Amino acid sequence: MDPFASPHNLDRELHSLLAQASSNLCDWFAESGSQAPIPDLFDLPEVFPAKEGVSNNVLLSELQLLMNGSYRPSHPGSLAHLDPPPLSASIVGELICAGLNNNLLAEELSPSLSSLERKLCKWFCHRLGLGDLSGGVAASGGSLSNLMALVMARNIAGLENDPSAVFFASEDCHVSFSKALKIMGLKKESLQKVPTDENGKLDISYLSSNLKKIQSEGKKCFAIVATAGTTVRGAIDPLSGIAQFCQKENIWLHVDGAIGGIYGLSKITSEIVNGLGSADSITINPQKLLGIAKTSSLLLVADKDHLSSTFSTGLPYAEPITGNDFHRGELGIQGTRSAESLKLWIGLRQLGEEGIEKILLESIQRRCYLESIIDLSKFKIISGPLHLLAITPINFTASQASDWSVKTRKTLLANKFMLSRPMYGDRYYLKAVMGNPNTKSNHLKTLANLINHSII
Ligand SMILES: *Cc1c(COP(=O)(O)O)cnc(C)c1O
Repeated sequence: MDPFASPHNLDRELHSLLAQASSNLCDWFAESGSQAPIPDLFDLPEVFPAKEGVSNNVLLSELQLLMNGSYRPSHPGSLAHLDPPPLSASIVGELICAGLNNNLLAEELSPSLSSLERKLCKWFCHRLGLGDLSGGVAASGGSLSNLMALVMARNIAGLENDPSAVFFASEDCHVSFSKALKIMGLKKESLQKVPTDENGKLDISYLSSNLKKIQSEGKKCFAIVATAGTTVRGAIDPLSGIAQFCQKENIWLHVDGAIGGIYGLSKITSEIVNGLGSADSITINPQKLLGIAKTSSLLLVADKDHLSSTFSTGLPYAEPITGNDFHRGELGIQGTRSAESLKLWIGLRQLGEEGIEKILLESIQRRCYLESIIDLSKFKIISGPLHLLAITPINFTASQASDWSVKTRKTLLANKFMLSRPMYGDRYYLKAVMGNPNTKSNHLKTLANLINHSII
């Protein structure tokens, strides 16, 4: 048994392994609805390689154990996080991507796929309102896109060697910015958190005084981060107002649109993220709502030269590319990386404009519907214009809310609904993300009923 496919004739062994594995995967999907979002118990296969390699049949049965122990994003009750089921074309994209095993590091290792990524990034830029100089690069997740954006902003501001340089973001900004601090060699104080208003949006009235304050301490600001879709409630910071402020003060605006940026793709929903096009850089995560198989994130930049001027080092072991473009490995932190844009491209082609719009609109409709059937005499709901909402009982102490959240999450899991339990402000909430197209109104009715009866 040769573990590598023959380059000379149809490799029957690969063919049958793929066919069987695909068939098992289809079965896994087919049974997901009758299972639960997460399994109670599971067995792991043998983890380490044995002395001799095992047969394909053994591989498949071991694989099955892992599949049985997996989270099931397509279960209609899987509503805890920003992890929807994958588009079927996107699954194929991932498979083919692995088979091609091209490398986005250098053009010569991925001729068509480097081009595809360049064009796809440009398409996203135009859709979101960035101008003609724009461009972008794919990254393995939004945390990495955000990190690259900050590194770039700091570099462009000429503050890469200034340990006291700061950036602003709202107090509801994503944890990836705290992580970025550690990687960038910055202290905690370099992330200046701006208070949010009662809707969870960055309160713009603080920006001017907060900037003056750090300037009076002799510090410089290299970026303001606006969040388009906060992680707990999907709030959208006032993008246009922040952009105006950034322009006036000549400060880089990064929009973390890991959740909300995708709504900029459709004319019907783009109003929600109005102002996005004024950003210097945008993080967008098609893995979070469109169903592109993980990971799929893009960092889009208004002036694509900023990517190369920040990250390029020269790539002496690869052939130079014609024109004055850069190898994709010179546009970001990652070197070798897989052609993640393949599954993004094929997913978007499968959906078409109409399919994209349908996903975006229906996600919001599900959130509105659930919101409309939660008993507001018992619960407070926090949400924004997107597809997320979080619920906590009214008139509870923080400790009572905590007990309620633990108990109710358990009850919901027993009924095959998985919600998450974020801490927000001083208390716990149960959070539901309406990105699962398999969740229908009857499921939401059952869910609301369970929640409404969780307190008497
Ligand atoms: C998920 C998320 C990120 C990080 O994305 P990963 O792909 O998980 O690294 C950043 N910002 C926001 C607002 C997010 O919700």
